[in-house]
Amino acid sequence: MAFFGKVRNTINLLKNIDLDQLTKINQQIDLSEAMKTLGNLDENQLKGLMKMLKTKRRKGQHDLPPIDGDFYNLDLKLTEEQRELQLKVRNLMEDEVRPLINDHWNRAKFPFEVIEMFKKLNIAGIPYEGYGCPNLPFLMEGVIAQEIARVDVSISTFFGVHSGLAMGSIYLCGSEEQKQEWLPKMQKLEAIGAFGLTEPNVGSGVAGGLETTCRFDGEHWVINGQKKWIGNATFADVIVIWARDEDSNQVKGFLVRKGNPGFKAEKMEDKMALRIVQNALITLTDCKIPDSDRLKKAESFRDTAKVLKMTRAGVAWQAVGCARGAYESALKYTKKREQFGRPIASYQLIQNHLVEMLSNLTAMQTLCFRLSELQDQDLLKDEHASMAKVFTSMRMRDVVSRAREVMGGNGILLEYDVARFVADAEAIYSYEGTKEINSLIVGRAITGYSAFVN
Ligand SMILES: Cc1cc2nc3c(=O)[nH]c(=O)nc-3n(C[C@H](O)[C@H](O)[C@H](O)COP(=O)(O)OP(=O)(O)OC[C@H]3O[C@@H](n4cnc5c(N)ncnc54)[C@H](O)[C@@H]3O)c2cc1C
Repeated sequence: MAFFGKVRNTINLLKNIDLDQLTKINQQIDLSEAMKTLGNLDENQLKGLMKMLKTKRRKGQHDLPPIDGDFYNLDLKLTEEQRELQLKVRNLMEDEVRPLINDHWNRAKFPFEVIEMFKKLNIAGIPYEGYGCPNLPFLMEGVIAQEIARVDVSISTFFGVHSGLAMGSIYLCGSEEQKQEWLPKMQKLEAIGAFGLTEPNVGSGVAGGLETTCRFDGEHWVINGQKKWIGNATFADVIVIWARDEDSNQVKGFLVRKGNPGFKAEKMEDKMALRIVQNALITLTDCKIPDSDRLKKAESFRDTAKVLKMTRAGVAWQAVGCARGAYESALKYTKKREQFGRPIASYQLIQNHLVEMLSNLTAMQTLCFRLSELQDQDLLKDEHASMAKVFTSMRMRDVVSRAREVMGGNGILLEYDVARFVADAEAIYSYEGTKEINSLIVGRAITGYSAFVN
């Protein structure tokens, strides 16, 4: 019976799977061996097996469609190589990263082994040209951000800070020497980056004036001030620090190396979202930086804003991933969970929630897809990226709250993943420009009036 049980489970599994899952199962069960065993069964054994398969299916039970948050098949728009990379990331996230997440989230620890795992993927600095970077379309950067966030938003934030904000600052604002020094090792994840713009007293208003200052003392740049919320900063090898020049009043960027005696990073404790991300309060006290570590093409906040425009599109894709992870977990749960003698997925009110979730998710995905196309055609404007951030972060909040709702009490348990997506959505909602600030950017573009308060 143990054998028949195994065969039945295998066949049941095979009925509901797509090609990716089949590949995964093949890694766990030796399918050719299972087929060989089936072929060796005598007539009586086969009859017994068939009878068991027929009778064991419960009344009213039928084949259920697969769980898939890509309802409009956007994956069909990818090339074969792009799809292959997407699946490689998905498999690694599912098989190797997912098992680490809830425990680390609970303990607010970063799983450093993920850095080693990611080295196999060759995904850092995806859209950049040269310096060992893959130079793939921005679309792939978005698709990958979605894949990572679909399993865990903290890991996608760690990666976005490193590959987008830190590498992006060096790529867009660094001199050739700075790029040559940092980008190849950051691409290989041999050096990790952080990005320090926000301050304890200056968040949304960073364009209006930073309190952190820099001045050139004839030999070094000297930086003084504090930065708050800086992801990866407790362990990063290089931290991009933005500071206001006391002489010109313009914003400049600096590469602060790990171990600089004027730099201190304290881990921020007791967060209720993105608990895996190591956010730091940074204090810079007469922090001396050689002129060779000043970002040579960062002349004013306009240059900082170029980096933010590029990475904001990636954050919109992260919101898609967060919503997709929550939707897929919730759909799976509703198919398994029975109340009043039937799976709750069979009830109209639950289906209404699922359809609202999927509609939102599909709208977010298709919008981000077009956003990435604009980026790939070099047509991306600040207001495009800002609108995507506004729309996806609002819709994401709606999706995760419905996902939590259809799971009843289990919706607030870490074990079922959705609680983590609900909490982490709150961080996406606020970082890289809050909803209000991104709305003001779009509002200014479409009306011609700036509603930022001076
Ligand atoms: C988990 C996390 C990770 C982060 N990582 C980083 C990082 O790696 N590097 C980094 O530099 N920063 C990081 N940040 C900072 C993030 O970008 C800021 O939190 C964000 O810009 C908002 O700033 P604030 O929190 O100071 O809020 P505030 O600016 O104080 O805003 C408070 C409220 O006032 C509203 N508001 C402000 N101005 C206006 C206005 N003119 N009109 C209407 N409403 C307004 C805001 O929308 C918000 O609702 C991170 C933040 C979080 C939460």
